Amino acid sequence: MQKSDFIIEVNHVSKQFEDGKFALDDVSLSVKKGEFVTILGPSGCGKTTLLRCIAGFQVATEGDILLNGEDVTTMPPHLRDVNTVFQKYALFPHLNVFDNVAFGLKLKKIDKKVIEKKVKQALKTVGMTDYEYRDVNSLSGGQQQRVAIARAIINEPEVLLLDEPLAALDLKMRKDMQMELREMHKKLGITFIYVTHDQEEALTLSDRVVVMSEGKIQQIGTPMDVYNEPQNSFVADFIGESNILDATMVKDGVVNFCEHDFECVDKGFGENTEVDVVVRPEDIYIGIVPRSEATVQNSSEIQGGKESPWQLHGEVKSCIFKGVHYEMTVLTEEGYELMIQDYKAFESGTQVGMLVKPEDIQVMKKERVCNTFDGEVLEDNQVRFLDEVWDIPERVAERFEVGEEVEVEVDFNRINLQDDEEDGTLCGEVYFILYKGDHYHLTIRTDDGDDLYVDTNDVWDDGDRVGIRIAPSYIRLYKRSQSEAL
Ligand code: ATP
Repeated sequence: MQKSDFIIEVNHVSKQFEDGKFALDDVSLSVKKGEFVTILGPSGCGKTTLLRCIAGFQVATEGDILLNGEDVTTMPPHLRDVNTVFQKYALFPHLNVFDNVAFGLKLKKIDKKVIEKKVKQALKTVGMTDYEYRDVNSLSGGQQQRVAIARAIINEPEVLLLDEPLAALDLKMRKDMQMELREMHKKLGITFIYVTHDQEEALTLSDRVVVMSEGKIQQIGTPMDVYNEPQNSFVADFIGESNILDATMVKDGVVNFCEHDFECVDKGFGENTEVDVVVRPEDIYIGIVPRSEATVQNSSEIQGGKESPWQLHGEVKSCIFKGVHYEMTVLTEEGYELMIQDYKAFESGTQVGMLVKPEDIQVMKKERVCNTFDGEVLEDNQVRFLDEVWDIPERVAERFEVGEEVEVEVDFNRINLQDDEEDGTLCGEVYFILYKGDHYHLTIRTDDGDDLYVDTNDVWDDGDRVGIRIAPSYIRLYKRSQSEAL
């Protein structure tokens, strides 16, 4: 049998806890020998659970995990050729640096001279030579984490798993340690799997980044891939700053957003298809436009015999210095807010023109274009979906039998959110907020764990409790197709 090219293979792994919650949902991932792979995602997305399943501290409910081609899904951690470094250094406070690092080898009753050589080597790798006899309590957080890494690499594992190892350090120390980890990885030549919620850390360190949300992998790619070509709006929003806008793919190579047609490099979305576009703030070119020219608008119009170079016009609403660049918010004449970064400051109130190159427009398939639910038609012009009973117009109800199963559709901008939960037919919580230039796209999670998507101009915060109302005339019903009904 040919040995796998991958040191780790995670195949369709799901992990469900006793409370029924899925921390991992059909996760598949292959890691090559010597790779530095980072698992990135917001708190609670399942990163640690995935790492713990690989380490053996948790057992997958479904799927399997292979290490060097061998199925280790249920193998206890100490039999796997992996070592884990945790966020908390977990050093033994009563032992000095040497004894902390030597601990595992001493248990294995390895020859004293060999231990001494290995400890010295491990401490050298983590930049802690000459610290052998220091009390671990006298070390800084960064130094303690180095000792923890030395303790993990002394066993010469094939895979080092690191669970947010730098999270407890201050920013400066974290940056220094990031560079050192990268160097250590090169020197050791082993596979690193690193968990973090810090996107900058992930992009800086990794050969490949695995972006996770809600127990699912959203995208796997090189840092350049996930930054420049996010596969969905979650990845675009989570990685770096971005302008995410509703758009229409007019035809191959032409996309319309902010009410203008832009040349782009994307093809194959079909004609007049609703899509999302992502434009990074540093990819919008900005320049001052004289007030007289600004009022003439539109790049295609001829001004003084010369075609305006600008695709969009607008006014700077805010300008903040960010250390290296300035970050401006510009309101376009059409009413879209764009975030722009430039090395030059454009002060508030300045009339500006904006330009985006075709290759800097990232077009993404929309995950959905409206809310869809499974429903059942009831008596008295009502329909049940999301476990609630909703009124529908008589003329709609008439087209269906009582008891008929239907597909329910509601547009994002037709759901009304109420401050007071009592005012809604259904209650929920604001779960995720995406700003789309001229409105917010919210994910509302109901108390039963169902999601609704809402477009609104109102400002809500993550975690706000809301009442959900839908006017009868905005509820569309469709017959279930024959195949679905069977
Ligand atoms: P963080 O960055 O906050 O550590 P994470 O992405 O590492 O988050 P996990 O720790 O993997 O997330 O948790 C994923 C989900 O599974 C969370 O909702 C968490 O509450 C849940 N979870 C984790 N461990 C258990 C457990 N032992 N029992 C029940 N639920 C759990």
